[in-house]
Amino acid sequence: MMWKSRFRSKRVLKNSASSILGPFWMLSGNGNGARILLYHSIGKQEKYDAIGLRISEESFTRQMEYLAGSSFDVVSLPSLIENLRDGGITVGRRTVAITFDDGYRDNLEKAMPIAKRFNFPISLFVNCDSSRQVRSNINNDYWSKWGYLSMDEINGLASATVTIGSHSFSHRTLDCKREEIYKEIQASKEVLEKEIGQPVTVFSYPHGIFTDVAKQAVREAGFLGACSSIMGTNNSSTDLFELRRTEISAFDTLDIFKKKLGGYYDWLGAFQRRKFHKK
Ligand SMILES: [Zn+2]
Repeated sequence: MMWKSRFRSKRVLKNSASSILGPFWMLSGNGNGARILLYHSIGKQEKYDAIGLRISEESFTRQMEYLAGSSFDVVSLPSLIENLRDGGITVGRRTVAITFDDGYRDNLEKAMPIAKRFNFPISLFVNCDSSRQVRSNINNDYWSKWGYLSMDEINGLASATVTIGSHSFSHRTLDCKREEIYKEIQASKEVLEKEIGQPVTVFSYPHGIFTDVAKQAVREAGFLGACSSIMGTNNSSTDLFELRRTEISAFDTLDIFKKKLGGYYDWLGAFQRRKFHKK
């Protein structure tokens, strides 16, 4: 309970600070650029999910409806990154990509049918370990009760509208020893490519944590870019190996979702880099 109220008071603090800083940030033009949305899970909300990783189908549907009805251009993550890299003029404030971290089964069962209804491409960042463990039933981490996509399901999902990306091999934080960082990144790419039979070009840092070595390893492995968990938008001057994302939580009302798209909370990104980028 203590845990929950601590998160609640953090949210209240964030919202009141945003009511002052948000409009300033937006007026300064910092909101220009493409936005990458970060989701985890879609489905029935659970009491133990104090950080709001799981969003109800109803909220997710309303959010997709809003994107579709407000002339947002929802593009695949690889094409968004290619556009940024090539200085594309098509990437602007209303360009959005949708991503999911961790590879939960509900991405297939709940999120996919909704995204499909709107013809929205999505990217799923999966860990090799979690997805392999489905086969042997040895999942025991906290969130594993939601279930992970199996490699067969991942293979079936990979298509023109579903991009499979790597979220490392084991989901460990990538601030470990150099060799281990390289192994996590390279092995995940190799295994996933072998499983799905096509190139895996996008990466997302587990727990949002990255170091300069991790960025270099992702680049050397041949990925187009890597997603961080730092809030904000992306333009042609953004480092493609620490792309900004906008995390959507179960506590976001549709009004907050709209504000997040408008850049109201992007000021947080200025502080978050210190938290996520490790020496
Ligand atoms: Zn994760």
